[in-house]
Amino acid sequence: MSNRIKVAVVGASGRMGSAACDAVEGANDLELVARIDSGDDLGDLGGAQVAVDLTVPDASPGVVAHCVDRGVHAVVGTTGWDDARLATLREQLAEHPDVGVLIAPNFAIGALLMMSFARQAAPFYESVEIVETHHPDKVDAPSGTAARTARIVAAAREEAGLGELPDATTSDPDGARGASVEGIPVHALRIRGHVAHQEVTFGAVGEALTIRHDSFDRVSFMPGVLEGVRRVGGHPGLTVGLEQYLGL
Ligand code: NAD
Repeated sequence: MSNRIKVAVVGASGRMGSAACDAVEGANDLELVARIDSGDDLGDLGGAQVAVDLTVPDASPGVVAHCVDRGVHAVVGTTGWDDARLATLREQLAEHPDVGVLIAPNFAIGALLMMSFARQAAPFYESVEIVETHHPDKVDAPSGTAARTARIVAAAREEAGLGELPDATTSDPDGARGASVEGIPVHALRIRGHVAHQEVTFGAVGEALTIRHDSFDRVSFMPGVLEGVRRVGGHPGLTVGLEQYLGL
C-alpha cells in the first residue's frame, strides 16, 4: 500500500489551484486524489488526508469547516481570514483535536524570509520604508504582505525603543509620501509585466540596507504549498503563517 499523502485541491481550476495540482502531481511523496472546483460536491474529498484550499474568500470558511468535520487536514492559501473567521475555526478545531489547519497568507518562502530578515534589521536603523510592486489587475493596496511587513517592523522598532521615523515633510498635497501603516511608509506600484515584488529599505547615517523579494511566477508559491501539505498533519490545531512550521 502506498504511503504517499493523499491530497485534494479545492479551487483546482483557478490560477493557484491548477499550479497546486501540477505541483502535487510532480511530488513523489504526494498523491492527488481529487480536483474540486465550484459546483462540485466536496463529499469525502476523494479520500484525501490533506485538502489544499485555493478558492475565494466567501467559499473558504465553508470548505475548511467541511474538511475539519471529516477529519481532513487543511492547507489554506485563500485570503480573507480575519480574526472573527479564525475564532470560529479555533472553536471548531477544539472539537477535532487531531486535525491540523494551516492558514498561510503567503506561501512564497522568500517572502517569509524577507519578513524575518526585516524583523531582524529593524532595531538597527533609524529609517525604513517599504515599496511593493504588483500587476495592475490587483484590486487591493497595499498588499497584505507589505502591510504585514510594516506591522512586524513597527513592532520590532517599538520593542527596541525607537521613536518615529525622521521625516521633515510638511507639505504633501498629492500623497507622495505613500500610505502609513503603523507609522511605516508603504508605497504601492502597479505595473504591467510584474507579479509580486517587495523591497524593504533601511537607512542609518552613512549606510542603507535593502531586502528585496521577487515572485516572478505563481510556481514560486508551490514549494510552500507542498511544505504545508507535508507538515500540517503533524501540527494539530490552528497555525497561522507557514513561517511557524519553518522556524522563522
Ligand atoms: P482564481 O479566481 O484563479 O481561482 C479560484 C478558484 O476557486 C476558481 O477556479 C473558482 O471557480 C474556485 N471556487 C470558487 N468557489 C469555490 C467553491 N465554493 N468550491 C470550490 N471551488 C471554488 O484565484 P487564484 O488567483 O487562484 O487565487 C486563489 C486564492 O489564493 C485567492 O484568495 C488569492 O488571493 C490567494 N492567493 C494566495 C497566495 C498565497 O501565497 N497564500 C498566493 C496567491 C494567491
